Amino acid sequence: DSIFSHVVLAPEDPILGVTVAYNKDPSPVKLNLGVGAYRTEEGKPLVLNVVRKAEQMLLNDRARVKEYLPIVGIADFNKLSAKLILGADSPAIQENRVTTVQCLSGTGSLRVGAEFMARHYHQKTIYIPQPTWGNHPKIFTLAGLSVKTYRYYDPTTRGLNFQGLLEDLGSAPSGSIVLLHACAHNPTGVDPTLQQWEQIRQLMRSKALLPFFDSAYQGFASGSLDQDAQSVRMFVADSGECFVAQSYAKNMGLYGERVGALSVVCKTADVASRIESQLKLVIRPMFSNPPIHGASIVATILKDSNMFREWTIELKAMADRIISMRKQLFDALRTRGTPGDWSHIIKQIGMFTFTGLNSKQVEFMTREYNIYMTSDGRISMAGLSSKTVSHLADAIHAAVT
Ligand code: PMP
Repeated sequence: DSIFSHVVLAPEDPILGVTVAYNKDPSPVKLNLGVGAYRTEEGKPLVLNVVRKAEQMLLNDRARVKEYLPIVGIADFNKLSAKLILGADSPAIQENRVTTVQCLSGTGSLRVGAEFMARHYHQKTIYIPQPTWGNHPKIFTLAGLSVKTYRYYDPTTRGLNFQGLLEDLGSAPSGSIVLLHACAHNPTGVDPTLQQWEQIRQLMRSKALLPFFDSAYQGFASGSLDQDAQSVRMFVADSGECFVAQSYAKNMGLYGERVGALSVVCKTADVASRIESQLKLVIRPMFSNPPIHGASIVATILKDSNMFREWTIELKAMADRIISMRKQLFDALRTRGTPGDWSHIIKQIGMFTFTGLNSKQVEFMTREYNIYMTSDGRISMAGLSSKTVSHLADAIHAAVT
């Protein structure tokens, strides 16, 4: 008898489990709209041309070795990542008051930032939007923070509950940490307007609430890297402090390379370097030092102006295809005369549409139409194509009528 016979079978991850179920389905018309990974019009995963080119250059460089990186990763990668999110002309970077460490994609960056806060910040409570990416509460709880939520989404308008958000942040204890999605909020696809961001900023600064930005979709929402970074840059322009977790999973298609960065914007260069020394103490016992390959690809692309331009074009093409799928799905439902207001499909931003379909309707669509998505009714627009949109529209129509 095993000494582990008491171990119970854990449930599948609510998001990754959708793909597990999809893979088991033999139907030729099955559609996976669960996981947030980009697919081409042909439904295939995409490796960007500029990524292939960078990999070829790395392969040809015989001077490259496989030694350990420093604890904080590749110096060039870190500098370029900070410039990408904060802006090339950011005073905070010029004044050396930003420290950036390479981490294991967005997830790892969030975890390292949160563990630092649990050790060194006086407030241990982090407010996360309701709803949010399902991994957020687990990451922050395991890092040693206590998690509370602030109102974010209004199901009746399928838009932002701005009043509720202001009330909840307004009554949070001074100094609390606030998790903000930089753009393309997951799962709702609902972002504050720039005017609303400005109000959020003023409220947070007046109460000394500490912003922790999660930037998993820069460039993927609007097609413009600068536009998608505006929320973060507003909070840096006021000279206040903030944390930013960046992921290159979506915007460079480097999902499995696990490449990301954590930046801490500080008031002074001196504080920044002391924080960096402490981030090393968080990282060393967690994974010692980060992997080379993905970050080398990113650094190669970011530091060459031609490759950078090529990347922005490929990135915009991905964003545009997603935006066009929104339009096509909206039109297909209108053509069918599907009851209800579906304008949120074209109003929402980024990879996901929060359809408003309930778990019963989702179950029906999976059972009758072999369409897979999370039970909260979130669909990945990136998993849809002109060829599959009518199948989805048929399923939604049948589910609500
Ligand atoms: N934050 C949000 C909001 C996300 O949607 C994701 C990816 N699903 C991540 C962070 C992190 O992803 P990764 O660790 O793959 O970069």
